[in-house]
Amino acid sequence: MQRIKISEILRSEPVNTTVLVKGWVKAFRNNQFIALNDGSTANNLQVVVDFEQIDPATLERIKFGAAIGARGQLIESQGKGQKVEIKASEIIVYGDCNPEEFPLQPKRQTLEFLREKAHLRFRTNTFSAVFRVRHALAFAVHKFFNDRGFYYLHTPIITASDAEGAGEMFSVTTLPLDNPPRTESGEIDFSQDFFRRPTNLTVSGQLEAELGAMALGDVYTFGPTFRAENSNTTRHLAEFWMIEPEVAFNDLHDNMNLAEDMLRYVISYALEHCGDDLRILEERLLEEEKSKPQDQRSEMALTDKLRFVIDNDFVRLTYTEAIDILKNSNPNKKGKFQFPVEGWGTDLQSEHERYLVEKHFKKPVILTNYPADIKAFYMRQDEPKAGVPGQTVSAMDILFPGIGEIVGGSQREERLDKLQTRMREMHISEEELYWYLDTRRFGACPHAGFGLGFERLVLFVTGMTNIRDVIAFPRYPGSAEF
Ligand code: ATP
Ligand code: MN
Repeated sequence: MQRIKISEILRSEPVNTTVLVKGWVKAFRNNQFIALNDGSTANNLQVVVDFEQIDPATLERIKFGAAIGARGQLIESQGKGQKVEIKASEIIVYGDCNPEEFPLQPKRQTLEFLREKAHLRFRTNTFSAVFRVRHALAFAVHKFFNDRGFYYLHTPIITASDAEGAGEMFSVTTLPLDNPPRTESGEIDFSQDFFRRPTNLTVSGQLEAELGAMALGDVYTFGPTFRAENSNTTRHLAEFWMIEPEVAFNDLHDNMNLAEDMLRYVISYALEHCGDDLRILEERLLEEEKSKPQDQRSEMALTDKLRFVIDNDFVRLTYTEAIDILKNSNPNKKGKFQFPVEGWGTDLQSEHERYLVEKHFKKPVILTNYPADIKAFYMRQDEPKAGVPGQTVSAMDILFPGIGEIVGGSQREERLDKLQTRMREMHISEEELYWYLDTRRFGACPHAGFGLGFERLVLFVTGMTNIRDVIAFPRYPGSAEF
C-alpha cells in the first residue's frame, strides 16, 4: 500500500478510504490519540488507535519521537481543530525513541539548547517551520529570476583571486601543514600545491558573475560563500549562502528596482505558501518578545511586518543625506551612539543603520552613493555633485529592520582607465585580475549587481533572531560540529 503524505491528506480529505501514513509521534494522549507529523506540513494528523486491533506491546512503543506507520480508515474527526483523523487498525513501529534518553522533550526548549542539538532540532515545530520557509524562499529566488529570463550561473567555490577584499578568506591546500615545501627564500612553495598556486574558498561570486553577464546578459549565482572573519554576531556566519544577480546594461536605479522587486516577490511568496509555518513562527516570536522590556518589543507581529515590507516602497536616500540625518539625530547629540557621527566620510556602524531604519524611517531603506574610500574598487565612480564633499561611488546597501544590511550592491565601473586607477590606488594587482580587466577591454558596457545574504533574508522572514538558527548546521568561530 502506498504511503500518503499528511499534507496531501489534509488538502484533499479522501474520507472513508483506507490510508497509510508514516511519520514521527508528536504526542500520545490517553493511550489513544497520536499526533503524527511527517514533515510535509506544520500540521499534525490525529491517529486514533483502535485498541481492539492493536496489541499492547505495540502500544507501549508509541512514544514521543518514535517513527511509526499507521494504516486505517480516514474518517471525519469528532475532535476540535481537525477535520479528519485516522482510525488506525494497524501500527508499525519503525524506530523506537526512548524518552529517558531522547534529548528533545515535548515542551518548549531554548534555542541555545537546541543549537547544541542541531542534529535533532529539525524535529521541533520551530525548526521544521524555519527549514520549510527557507526552502520556499530558495525556490522563490530561482522562480523570480527564471521568470525574468536570468540564467543561474555556478561560479567556483575554490578561487585563486584574493583581490576582492570582501572579507578574510579560508585557504585551500593539500600541502602538509606540519612541513610544507619551502622556496629558497623560506616562503611556502605553493607551486607544489594542488593548484600550483595559493587558493581560497570564495567570498563572493560577483567577479565571475560579471564575466557571465557580459554575454548572457542577466545572470545570478546562488551558492555558498565563506568568510573567515572573527565576527561572533547574530548576523554573521563563516559559511553562508549568497544570491548575486549581475545584469548587463543596468544602472544603479535599475539595480535598486531589481533588488526591491526581488525582495517583495520572495516575501510575498512565503506569505502565500507558508501560512501554517509563519503562524507557528509568529507565535514563537510573540512568546520571545514577552520576555523583553516593553520599549524593545516589536510594534508589529511577524506577518504584519512582512506585509508592511511588501506594501510600502523602500526609502531611498544618499549616504550624504543619511549623514545629515544622523549628525542631527537625538542619540548623536546626546552622545548615545557608541561611534559618534562626526562627519562625511566615516563608515556607518550597525547602530547608525538601525537608527535610520528602526527609529527614523521605520521602513526598509536603500542607502546610495557612498564615499569611494569605504567601498570596493569595482564600484562605479560618480560625477562630482554640489553639496557632496568627496568622491562617491554608485553603491547601494539595503537595510532592513532588525537585520541591518541585507543587500550590498553597486553599478560596476566599466571604464577601463578609471578602474585601473582605482586598482592602483587600492593596491590591487592588475596582473592577477587581467581576466576581469579584459571585460573592460573588449565590449565593455554599463552593468550592475548586488549580493543578498540568503540567511539574513531567512532571518527576516522567519522572525528568528540569531542567524545560527536559520541554517541547518551553522559554521562560526569555534564551531564546525556535524
Ligand atoms: P556586514 O557589513 O554586515 O558584515 P558586508 O558589507 O561584509 O556585510 P557584503 O560583502 O556586501 O557584506 O556581502 C553582501 C551580503 O552578504 C550582505 O549584505 C549580507 O546580507 C551578506 N553577508 C555578508 N557577510 C555575511 C556573513 N558573515 N554571514 C552572513 N551573511 C553575510
Ligand atoms: Mn562583513
